[in-house]
Amino acid sequence: MTVIFYIFIFGLIIGSFLNAVIYRLEAKKSVCRGRSFCPECKHILAWYDLIPLLSFIFLGGKCRYCHQEISIQYPLVELATGLLFVLIFPLVGGSRPMAGQFSIFNLSYGFYIISILIVIFVYDLKYYIIPDKIILPAIIVSSLWSLSAGNYLKIENWKLPAQGWSALGGEIIDVNSLLAAFGASAFFLSLIIISKGRWMGFGDVKLAFLMGLILSFPNILVALFTAFISGAIIGAGLILFKKKDLKSQIPFGPFLAGGTIFSLFFGEIIINWYLNILL
Ligand SMILES: [Zn+2]
Repeated sequence: MTVIFYIFIFGLIIGSFLNAVIYRLEAKKSVCRGRSFCPECKHILAWYDLIPLLSFIFLGGKCRYCHQEISIQYPLVELATGLLFVLIFPLVGGSRPMAGQFSIFNLSYGFYIISILIVIFVYDLKYYIIPDKIILPAIIVSSLWSLSAGNYLKIENWKLPAQGWSALGGEIIDVNSLLAAFGASAFFLSLIIISKGRWMGFGDVKLAFLMGLILSFPNILVALFTAFISGAIIGAGLILFKKKDLKSQIPFGPFLAGGTIFSLFFGEIIINWYLNILL
């Protein structure tokens, strides 16, 4: 239990860092350099203003210095990162027998992927773009990962449970993930060509490629299906409640990132359930 607690705290801290990454990417500032400051009054924040979740709660969601309201994005990103880190841990972490010394790689990669998906989710939702500075390194890291999944990291007796993470399986060379990446991105590219760029952006093509690398086949299908269904429902809801009209732009990246996270946890359960119905 204590391990779970530390992972949650670690996730909160990384979540706080992700908020800074999102802000600094938009403001074209260096991610690594410079102290954190209030986006409104630019006052440099003290260490006790930077405690994830708690400082937001104790300050009543307002800046200590200028009393401007702090966006709910800050505590939500921190909380989501903490919770998802805790949830991803049993999938890739050190508690599984035979995971051995390589589990730390799996865990790091799991944390990295969760972080990337959270940044893409929030950034595309806010600014309608998926930043290359985030997606391109993630594609490189995940390509190396799926290429090494069958070779360098091969662990003979290590089998993931039914709801495991196929790209991290470590038991096969993951050609599947490369095929899933090219297949998914080709699909989105064709949507762009058909719609002349009205339905999707090129960022979605890159994200689809990353999703294929992370999820592999057939779990990529669960992610895409989830993204399109939830996108349609929420899009229809926004139009129904007059938040958006038919012509307004709704970014698709958040649905793709959300679908990827959903498929990480439930992909294989749903695939097995679906195959059981069919067969
Ligand atoms: Zn302020």
